[in-house]
Amino acid sequence: MSRIAVIAGDGVGREVVPAAVRAARAAAGERLEWTEFDWNADYFLRHGAAMPPDGLEQLRRFDAILFGAVGDPRIGTHEYAAGLLLKMRFGLDLYANLRPVRPLDDRLCPLRGIRGDEIDFVVLRENTEGAYAGIGGNFKSGRSEEVAIELDLNTRLGVERIQRLAFETARQRPRRRLVMADKSNAMPHAHGLWLRVFRELRPQYPEVEAGHLYADALAYQMVRDPRQFDVIVTSNLFGDLLTDLAAALQGGLGMAASANLHPGRLGLFEPVHGSAPDIAGRNRANPLGAILSAALMLDFLGLGEAARQIEAAAAAAVREGVTTPDLGGNWGTMECAAWIEKRLRA
Ligand code: ATP
Repeated sequence: MSRIAVIAGDGVGREVVPAAVRAARAAAGERLEWTEFDWNADYFLRHGAAMPPDGLEQLRRFDAILFGAVGDPRIGTHEYAAGLLLKMRFGLDLYANLRPVRPLDDRLCPLRGIRGDEIDFVVLRENTEGAYAGIGGNFKSGRSEEVAIELDLNTRLGVERIQRLAFETARQRPRRRLVMADKSNAMPHAHGLWLRVFRELRPQYPEVEAGHLYADALAYQMVRDPRQFDVIVTSNLFGDLLTDLAAALQGGLGMAASANLHPGRLGLFEPVHGSAPDIAGRNRANPLGAILSAALMLDFLGLGEAARQIEAAAAAAVREGVTTPDLGGNWGTMECAAWIEKRLRA
């Protein structure tokens, strides 16, 4: 029995997370036990904090966390997000952000002459340091001579563990290919470390065909011909940008799933999109990003067969036109989720 903490959060998170729970329940049945947490914008406005003081301790007792989205027009997003999503990523040391890129159907891939099933890669993004470590400050704020500093923090431990995970991931995939992307040409100190670590690790994985690309060249190649990629590893900032680009290859933000992992310890699974206030509460959000995130969670929990069933049901939904407006369909979030649940229970 795996114990799962559910935090739907805000906006469309409250619509797509119940859809994901329905799919996971239908596929994995009694093997999962769910506990819901109401840590969202309302909680923040009531308590002045996004979670209780022992929130992280509570979460550590679970095997996985299923998360929706954080963001509310009533609150300055940074302060609140820092107290919820970023607190979990950093506090639980979820150092690897994993995003699979695999269009479920040909018509989701916008590139001419490339079939959806020819694209199948994962991006591993460093998730706890780099340019998003939050270290910096402003000096002489608001004056013409203002100085703003955002530090790009890279530790050998942090760089090595994400790259090692990428080599291990590549080793287990059929094509066994890895690309490490950095900007060591323009950022010789921080990304020089990435390149040195990469060159140290590469001989330890002779079965992996591992190469290096500058992040800008990788962006170019990802659009020119994404079929060449198998596993990509990169820093926090570049991973953020490249995975949004990659999401466009698989049908948009509503389709993209992600995992925040500390392998062997804990995983937090969430759709890539945010709270989408423009469509929240209107039964228009695409639930597939969240449903596919639940499939990633089942994989992490050792329930690979149930995960494959969810992916197959999601692919069938797209194939048969059971889609929300972002994919050109006229199905509602709930109706789409019900269709997938029914198919899983059939
Ligand atoms: P946040 O501040 O929480 O990140 P946002 O609106 O800035 O919210 P997203 O939530 O990622 O960022 O939304 C970006 C765009 O993508 C919006 O126009 C939104 O409607 C659309 N979008 C996001 N998620 C979905 C979804 N599940 N289904 C359909 N459209 C979506």
